[in-house]
Amino acid sequence: MWKEALSRLAGLVFPERCPFCGGVTARDCPVCAACAAQLPFCVPHACRISLRPEGKDIVCYSVYRYEGAVRKSLQAFKFHGRRVYANGYAAEMARLLREEGAAGIHAVTAVPMSPKRRAARGYDQAELLGRGVASRLGLPYAAYLAKVRENELQHLLSKAERRENVREAFSIVPDQDPAGKKLLLVDDIFTTGATLAECAGVLYEGGAAEVLCLTAARTARAAG
Ligand SMILES: [Zn+2]
Repeated sequence: MWKEALSRLAGLVFPERCPFCGGVTARDCPVCAACAAQLPFCVPHACRISLRPEGKDIVCYSVYRYEGAVRKSLQAFKFHGRRVYANGYAAEMARLLREEGAAGIHAVTAVPMSPKRRAARGYDQAELLGRGVASRLGLPYAAYLAKVRENELQHLLSKAERRENVREAFSIVPDQDPAGKKLLLVDDIFTTGATLAECAGVLYEGGAAEVLCLTAARTARAAG
């Protein structure tokens, strides 16, 4: 009862905001109907990422195409402090995963940010999405990965440079054990898949049984 009362109070103080128009919305329907009707969705939602040149493929589900209103909104979410948009994205991401019938997931985790960058931003957008997705799917959230090497910002680099840039940038958090688990790896944007592939590779090296990826958006480059 207290939990519900607190949640209602939080809703009055920090109302849900549609990530695309900024309008106040309901918690159970955070993307407003007017925006939902005209957003660019990924078709198909699932896309394959190859882990290494000789390695296996993993599946990544993405809700939107990274363009227009989605691009503008995600930039506000990442770079201009609109952390409140996480709820709207997480709701749509969780719904997509349910629709796709992904089952048997043990835990949700996220692509980590370096502690320095996180301190500068004040929040980690991928973690906010991961926690939101986990709570909506009734799954535990756990940080399995840490960023152990500061690298250049991916969006400034070519596809080949991105792969090199993220190599050995991540490791398993010491008190976590991915062995035998099916994990859902969450990030905000799937661009070339280099970061997701590197993170999934580290989880597989740690013994993960299966890694599925889920992002809010995917760029046109990702499909090529
Ligand atoms: Zn809207």
